Amino acid sequence: MFDKILIANRGEIALRVIRAAREMGIATVAVHSTADSDAMHVRMADESVCIGPAPSPQSYLSMPAIISACEITGAQAIHPGYGFLSENADFVQIVEDHGITFIGPTAEHIRIMGDKITAKDTMKALGVPCVPGSDGGVPDLASAKRIGEEIGYPVIIKATAGGGGRGMKVARTEKEMESAFMTARAEGKAAFGNDEVYIEKYLTTPRHIEIQVFGDGKGHAVHLGERDCSLQRRHQKVFEEAPGPCISEEERARIGKICADAVAKINYIGAGTIEFLYEKGEFYFIEMNTRLQVEHPVTEGIFGVDLVREQILVAAGEPMSFGQDDLQINGHAIEVRINAERLPNFSPCPGKITAYHAPGGLGVRMDSALYNGYSIPPYYDSLIGKLIVQGRDRNEALARLQRALGELIVDGVDTTVPLFHALLHEPDIHSGDYNIHWLERWLAEHMAK
Ligand code: ADP
Repeated sequence: MFDKILIANRGEIALRVIRAAREMGIATVAVHSTADSDAMHVRMADESVCIGPAPSPQSYLSMPAIISACEITGAQAIHPGYGFLSENADFVQIVEDHGITFIGPTAEHIRIMGDKITAKDTMKALGVPCVPGSDGGVPDLASAKRIGEEIGYPVIIKATAGGGGRGMKVARTEKEMESAFMTARAEGKAAFGNDEVYIEKYLTTPRHIEIQVFGDGKGHAVHLGERDCSLQRRHQKVFEEAPGPCISEEERARIGKICADAVAKINYIGAGTIEFLYEKGEFYFIEMNTRLQVEHPVTEGIFGVDLVREQILVAAGEPMSFGQDDLQINGHAIEVRINAERLPNFSPCPGKITAYHAPGGLGVRMDSALYNGYSIPPYYDSLIGKLIVQGRDRNEALARLQRALGELIVDGVDTTVPLFHALLHEPDIHSGDYNIHWLERWLAEHMAK
């Protein structure tokens, strides 16, 4: 087992990793930019290294700075968290070339899944159900129109290098194809330096269901059921839960096994998430994330396992601490993402926290790096906390969410908390009756400018 690991991240996820490491008796090294000298992850880690100025390309994304920090402190492994360098295959390669262990999958797996066309081809070959669409990249508008005709409108044009909801455009008719095709290409080029696009059938009322998988890198893998993340704004998740309100035990077992078998076959190591759209009882693969997800705590809640601990174990070459038969669902968990954003536009709202009080009590987990007097810097993601609640069933979890939101105090900046208070008054939220478009429609109706 490692003596010391470095966490190449900040905010709540850096704390999350420090906590798991500490319980395992592993020392931790935080890295930080000059803007984060007073951040909680720096205070909580055993050691810290300043790796550069505020802009992330010069600090949290600076590979030489992070590798140097490892060498100076003698850290034997790097946990990347999510975002930043967590899905950067070149980084993994460089880390390994320096004799440091990357706590996550191999560079090869990241590369395969990072290219959406290759990912889809790979999953298809492994028996995972996919959205009907083009066979690989679509070179020009004429081919795009032909494919649109074949699979039927509406279709979605996606940048093969896309991510974070960018580089995707819907064409509802052939007339809309030209502008959608050109825009998706231009966005792919501008944001990811790659203008290759592909086309999929656009599903009109799907839910977003994702399966958590975990592999030991030696051909053995398990699944930890699904998360329903259908409540999204601009393709970004805001409210996640497990188990999914509309997934039966049989469906879970069937799709879970398909996913676990698929990742076992490619000797996948560590945590991964296979994302699906789910419509009329069918699952359609959209992408695989080769890292820990923001919403992993809901899965940890219902299965009672520590996914970060498990990531560290397998990275150190040790066996996983559970098998498929050990994994039983217990109750229902919900996470809401609390962002420092001003409603109704969700514009970032950094600033000084004048008062902070985290909710507590039975079934409440608050993952946040906030503290009284902390100044949220303007340079990074606006996620400032995740409130995760758990109950014996969904209704209990919802009641607990309402109670915990009422206890939470974050003064000094605007947050997305009022959104969740309002959502908890919606009958559709209580019945679980929504798809991936529900929240956008609700926002248009309730938060019109
Ligand atoms: P990203 O990598 O940018 O997150 P994804 O491929 O995971 O992109 O898709 C993000 C979201 O876009 C999905 O959760 C869903 O809301 C929507 N989406 C993607 N593909 C389709 C599709 N074929 N039909 C309908 N909606 C889609």
